[in-house]
Order: sequence, then C-alpha cells, then structure tokens
Amino acid sequence: MSTKEMKLLISALGEEAAKELQRPAEPRDVMRQFCRAMSVRKGRLIELKFYSFPPDAGVSGLCLDLGDRSIIVVEEATASEAQLVIVGHELKHADMGTGHHAAGMPAAARTHGTLQQPEAVRRALQQILDEYDLTSEAVLTVSARDHCADEHEIDAETFGLLFAAAVRPWIRGRYAQGPVSDATVEGRINLSLLSRGGTLL
Ligand SMILES: [Zn+2]
Repeated sequence: MSTKEMKLLISALGEEAAKELQRPAEPRDVMRQFCRAMSVRKGRLIELKFYSFPPDAGVSGLCLDLGDRSIIVVEEATASEAQLVIVGHELKHADMGTGHHAAGMPAAARTHGTLQQPEAVRRALQQILDEYDLTSEAVLTVSARDHCADEHEIDAETFGLLFAAAVRPWIRGRYAQGPVSDATVEGRINLSLLSRGGTLL
C-alpha cells in the first residue's frame, strides 16, 4: 500500500470515527472509535484492550486474529502518543488480515524494535489468552515483528506513524486541535491528510 493510499485509509477511518466522537477526546475513546471504524470497514469486530506487557517481552502490541473478530492489545504503561503508533500498526495488521506464523504460536506482535525474545513474548501472549479466557487454538494468526522487517511489517509501521501524526490532534492535551490551520506543522500534517472530500480527520 502506498503512503497516499494509507493516508486515504486513515482519512476514511477518521470520517467514521468522527461520527461518535467530539474531538478533542480522551485517548482511549479516540483509539476505540478508530477500532470501531475499522470494524465497520472490515465487517468484523476489532476489539481494543490495554495490557501491561512484561518488560522483558520487548513487545508493545499484539493483534490476535480469532476468525470472526480480532483483538488489538496495546501496552498500557506508555504515553498516549506512543499508543497511537501501536494502535495504528495493529490496525494495519487487522486491515491486511495477514500475520506471520511464528513458532507455533500464531499472533501479530509489535516489538520495540529490538531482537524479540520468543519465550517472553510467548509468556505475555499466554497471560493475555488466560485473561480473556481464550485458547491458543482460537487464535488463527499472530505475527511477531522481528529484526528482519518484511513488507507487511514495514507497511504496518509506516501506517502506525502516519496514523499517530494524523490522530494526535484528536486527543485532549498539548497536541489537541480543533479547526485545521496551516499555521502550524501539525496543521500542515492535517491538511496533507484531508481526503478528496475535504473531510478533516
Ligand atoms: Zn507488526
């Protein structure tokens, strides 16, 4: 997917998310609405959960594909700006519907970019499965990002960064922004993400 196509997708998701959100809003509300927007797009439920991954797992996000639905799991102990990148990254996995089958434990994992530690990732995943009362058999796809970035991972990471840049102004706080203005860098990013219909993200 080209960068332009990614921006159009973010814009389309933003149009849907905006239907049930008054911006600026609380970070989790914004992220949930974008997951709802992706649910509408894909015709299947994309749930959002927050979870404190063990530090040694080196993982900040997972996308569990359960067939009829997906669960995006995001590290809760990090800044909302970073969570936006994670949500965007995992939303792209949910959109692509592709994951790598990693070592018998299917799951899409976003690591911190360091060498992943499969055992720690596996433990974290098992905790999530236990917590949500899921069996590992229920999970069809889980991919793990490793140091050999493949095309899907590059797409997911690019999308995550574009997503965070576009959606950050929706969040209450120092980056919050109402009407678009080209007077700021933030505003120029927003303007560059306007869809052809002129709808603001
Ligand atoms: Zn990934």
